[in-house]
Amino acid sequence: MQSQNLLRLSIEIFGSGLFFVAFSALIFWPLEEIFEGEGAARPKLKDLAYLWFYQSYGLWIAAGIVYEVAFLLRGLLPHSWSATVQHQPFWLQATAALLMAEIWVYTAHRLSHKSSFLWKFHSVHHTVTEMTWSASSRQHPVDFLFIIVGANLPALMLGIDLRSIGLLVLLERVYTVLLHSNLKLDWGWFSKVFASPSLHRVHHLPSGNDKNYAGILSLLDTLGNTYQPPAPHEVAKLAPNTIPGIWAEACEDAELGFKTDRS
Ligand SMILES: [Zn+2]
Ligand SMILES: [Zn+2]
Repeated sequence: MQSQNLLRLSIEIFGSGLFFVAFSALIFWPLEEIFEGEGAARPKLKDLAYLWFYQSYGLWIAAGIVYEVAFLLRGLLPHSWSATVQHQPFWLQATAALLMAEIWVYTAHRLSHKSSFLWKFHSVHHTVTEMTWSASSRQHPVDFLFIIVGANLPALMLGIDLRSIGLLVLLERVYTVLLHSNLKLDWGWFSKVFASPSLHRVHHLPSGNDKNYAGILSLLDTLGNTYQPPAPHEVAKLAPNTIPGIWAEACEDAELGFKTDRS
């Protein structure tokens, strides 16, 4: 009976990833056809596999790690903290969860560009030189877990409403797909607060690697002096990045053709 339940759960997780890929394709594929940015990047099978895996089993692995670590660390916090948090209205808990997650995403992302050790993993994501929605999850597993576990751990430790954490994870995943989509889309002045596809495109340019780290709240880039608005000549073309590290050869083999001479 228990093995039947496990099999059912496994099939449901498998299906949830497929559903997310289909949902993203339904929204972003037509948008890219109508409001195409630069180049003619289209979904690659390998990227669709990344997207499916991280959105299904990847999320469950991350959730398991977050749950176990939060359970261990929660004992270090005064009980009154979680009691106070749980008495707050839902919107306040959700906003706090979003803020804590975004501060982690910004800090961890910035660190991943500064530390040669973390860059070995994060560089896999920077093999994306043609923006398209399906490339959003091209990540090394360590990079994926480093970002998502750290982003959601504080909220779970503090006992924030699980529904708001679930909504936040969904928002983060959909927003990541939007940021990587091949759309000439910017929010103007509002991009100083919320990241846009054009803003994240700058981050994938060699000249913009140290700018625009935020996942959703580009306000953190504005405050951290790493905000860089898109300039016409910078959005014109993404040049191949140079990547080092453990997956570099694999990336070269996988038709990407990148050099590995960054030190
Ligand atoms: Zn980056
Ligand atoms: Zn990216």
